[in-house]
Amino acid sequence: MNIIIASNNQGKISEYSQLLATVGFSRVLSLEQAGINCVPEENGSSFEQNAVIKARALKELCGADHAVIADDSGLEIDALGGQPGIYSARFGGLKSDFDRNALVLQKLEGVPKNERGARFVCVICFILPDGEEITVRGECDGYIGFEPLGDNGFGYDPIFMYNQAPFCERSFAQINAADKNKISHRAKALDALLCELKMRRS
Ligand code: IMP
Repeated sequence: MNIIIASNNQGKISEYSQLLATVGFSRVLSLEQAGINCVPEENGSSFEQNAVIKARALKELCGADHAVIADDSGLEIDALGGQPGIYSARFGGLKSDFDRNALVLQKLEGVPKNERGARFVCVICFILPDGEEITVRGECDGYIGFEPLGDNGFGYDPIFMYNQAPFCERSFAQINAADKNKISHRAKALDALLCELKMRRS
């Protein structure tokens, strides 16, 4: 069965392809591969709402033959009342990851380590061909560091400090992609989705 994913991001697509193959979905197509142009307005007020908006818009274009998958993710910082949250990709109206990270560090100036708690969140909405919807959430806890560290990853990775064994006191950008993919918010959400799909197949 085909699954169409609401993304053209190659990294994301290959991660989803590998994991969904384990539950019998052998063909995962990007929007581009499926020849679909789908850019709905993400005007929800939660990660859940935005993931559902994206998945439903895509499902409407694909019809009954396909399953679809969409996700929404971002960074919540306790000392900023959960910001940037669903606005992570456009925090402060700034155009680059570098500038957004600098803004976060500036807003947290003088905030001690024990008050810099943060988490990455990922919500996935999967819609089966018959229209059944499965929505799952994954979170990864850490704290915001005092300077950008490391060269891997993207987005807020250089300032997000992971603090659990075996990667204590390392930023996500100091952890290689394969290891990050085992511990990240996206990995946890995908695990939860795979559990739900396996339950339906047994
Ligand atoms: P999207 O859900 O892929 O649109 O991601 C939203 C935004 O959240 C991204 O543009 C990043 O700024 C941030 N983000 C989501 N996941 C990660 C991650 O794993 N590392 C760093 N930043 C992330």
